[in-house]
Amino acid sequence: MKLTWATGTDTGRVRSNNQDSVFPPQGSDTSTNGLLIAVADGMGGHVGGEIASSTALAAALSADGTPRDRIAEANRAVLEAVRADHSLRGMGTTLTLASIASDGSCVVGHVGDSRAYRARGRDIVQLTADHTVIAEYLASGKITPAQAKRHPQRSVITRAVGIIDDLAVDQFEERFVPGDRLLICSDGLTAMVDDEQIRQLIEAYAPDEAVRRLIEAANRAGGVDNITVAVVAFES
Ligand code: MN
Repeated sequence: MKLTWATGTDTGRVRSNNQDSVFPPQGSDTSTNGLLIAVADGMGGHVGGEIASSTALAAALSADGTPRDRIAEANRAVLEAVRADHSLRGMGTTLTLASIASDGSCVVGHVGDSRAYRARGRDIVQLTADHTVIAEYLASGKITPAQAKRHPQRSVITRAVGIIDDLAVDQFEERFVPGDRLLICSDGLTAMVDDEQIRQLIEAYAPDEAVRRLIEAANRAGGVDNITVAVVAFES
C-alpha cells in the first residue's frame, strides 16, 4: 500500500514552549515501505517536558523490536536522564508509536493520554485507551462523558514514560485498508476539537492540509495546550 503522511506540531496560544515531540519531524511525504510514526507529550516543570518527550522519542526510534520494546527502551532512557540530573526529577512523557507495514498491518504501542484513531468512511474509532484518572472514573460510571469534558482532573494521567522502572505498555494490532486514515495526536488536539470534527477534516483533506486544519481548529478553540498531529492516508 502507498502511505501518504504528514506531521505537525504547534505551541498553541497559551503555553510559552512546546513540550510535544513528533516523528517523522514536522513535514509530509509518501512511503511504499511502511512507516514508523510517533507522538510524545512531555510534562515536568521548566525544560523537563521537552527533554522527556525528545529523549523518549530518540530512544524509541533507535531501539529494536516491537513498539512495546521500543517504549520500554524510552522508559529506561528518560529514567537514566533523571538519574544523571536530579533537577529533571518528575519529568515524564506520553508515547504513542505505530509501526506500519506496507500491507497495512500495524502494531501500536501506547502509554498516556495521547491518542491513536482510525477513520474509515463515516466512522472514527479511538484505538488507544486513555491512561487518565478521568478514563477510570468514566469506566466505573462515577462521572458522565459530559462531566469528563470539564473535569478539573482531566489532564491527570495515571501512566507515563520515565516515572517507574516497571512500566506497563499497551500494545495491539490493527489492520488498515485502502481509504483508511490513521491519526496520532496529543491531548492539545482532542481537548479542543471533538471526534466528529476531527473525522471530517481528515476525511476531506490530504494529510498535509488536514494536519494544518486540525492545528488551526485547536487554536481557534483556544489552543490551551501544545498541539501535535500525525495523519497517515492508506492508498492501494
Ligand atoms: Mn498535552
